[in-house]
Amino acid sequence: MAMGNSLSSFIANLFMSKFETKVKDKFEYFPRVWFRYVDDIFAVFNTKAISLDNFVAKLNNRFPTIKFTYEVEHNEQLPFLDVLVIRNSENKLEFDVYRKETATLRYIPNDSHHPFQHKMASFNFLIRRLLNFPLSKERNVTNSRQLDAFESLEIIKCNNSMNKDNGPIPTSPLFALINKDSYGSVNRGNKFGINSATKRTTYPIGELRLPHLVDWVTCTLNVDLSKPINPKGYPTDKDYPKPNISIENLKRLTSLEIPYSIEVIDRVVRAHGQTLHDIFTLRNGEFKRIPDIVLWPRCHDEVVKIVNIANEGNIVVIPFGGGTAVSGAVECPVEESRSIISLDTSQMNKILWLDKQNLVACCESGIIGQDLERELGKLGFTTGHEPDSYEFSSLGGWVATRASDYSGLKPITSRVINTESYKSTGTAE
Ligand SMILES: Cc1cc2nc3c(=O)[nH]c(=O)nc-3n(C[C@H](O)[C@H](O)[C@H](O)COP(=O)(O)OP(=O)(O)OC[C@H]3O[C@@H](n4cnc5c(N)ncnc54)[C@H](O)[C@@H]3O)c2cc1C
Repeated sequence: MAMGNSLSSFIANLFMSKFETKVKDKFEYFPRVWFRYVDDIFAVFNTKAISLDNFVAKLNNRFPTIKFTYEVEHNEQLPFLDVLVIRNSENKLEFDVYRKETATLRYIPNDSHHPFQHKMASFNFLIRRLLNFPLSKERNVTNSRQLDAFESLEIIKCNNSMNKDNGPIPTSPLFALINKDSYGSVNRGNKFGINSATKRTTYPIGELRLPHLVDWVTCTLNVDLSKPINPKGYPTDKDYPKPNISIENLKRLTSLEIPYSIEVIDRVVRAHGQTLHDIFTLRNGEFKRIPDIVLWPRCHDEVVKIVNIANEGNIVVIPFGGGTAVSGAVECPVEESRSIISLDTSQMNKILWLDKQNLVACCESGIIGQDLERELGKLGFTTGHEPDSYEFSSLGGWVATRASDYSGLKPITSRVINTESYKSTGTAE
């Protein structure tokens, strides 16, 4: 693969993963600390076990065309990508931003004629680095000074003033972070659930008037809005088969006294996510397979009971959070002949406890993003996680789909400490 080809790093990753697996099996000694990014590796060596030269020679023996070179720490420091790893006097690791000696520390100035996106790209890059590197307080302050040179706050003003006729444009969390009130409170490297409150300046939730939208759609898409294609009405019993569930299983489930429904409308609502295809099918067609029964457990114990019955009765369970999936994740497999339960988590929507000191919250999985945010906000906290769908999607859905914040700042997985789920095989944490 040519260098720079977009497939190169993918192929290199595939190759290196296989290479590492084989080497780990075959070599008598393999470093316990071994981090790799594509073809750059950071490793901590026990030179008593094997000399570095010997180890690298063994690596290089495997493929004649692939040769590894190495660099060892110098003055207790070793760069890895753009991180400088420093061994401190207590033999512990610290980190700093690594810059080549030729780095000028000059970034695109705010008053240059570069496209706005380019200015924002280098600005966002600096912010991301500050957020992602586990810098000490002093190093954080030193590195933050580059943002002053970048005149970041002026960029925000310029961003808003560009749109002053139409009101301020939505600002992303990255912008919110450098808001004077909140900048100091960014909690970097925090693996825990919540942050101390930063002022949210992202767009307000839904129901906004968009006075120019109709004109824009008409002109841009060449759509004649005077001739709408009328969608079908609400789905009825005639449109879908009766629930495919045995009387015995239905009896067992309903005897739990957990709210349930076998109405077509409830089953159809939980048969799809939010892709264009889903919406089109909803308006103009029929789903080939829908859940047979919807259950609304109100707590973990009720989930356990449902799963146990499902297990014994050979029934499929599909959890349903906000139903915003865009990957077919809540769809029922067309060929599924077993009964299907849609387990709607919407009634499990409480924050169970909040540990203000350690910035940890324990929540039930069905809580919807905007509710979680509002309730945490009242107490002065935020999740710091805001996917575009947070108006409707649930915490459980975020975790199950490893959702990412639209700013790309942090995936939800980096904020989760523990999950408790119940499967046919028992409780999993
Ligand atoms: C307009 C729009 C914007 C979006 N923006 C983003 C975005 O910025 N970032 C992003 O990552 N995604 C985004 N998505 C995709 C979607 O919102 C996410 O995948 C979200 O995490 C799904 O959450 P949900 O509660 O709606 O889950 P659902 O759609 O209900 O379910 C998704 C999957 O999770 C499982 N599940 C749900 N709850 C649980 C639970 N409690 N326990 C176990 N499994 C569970 C379901 O069975 C299913 O497999 C967007 C979607 C839309 C429509």
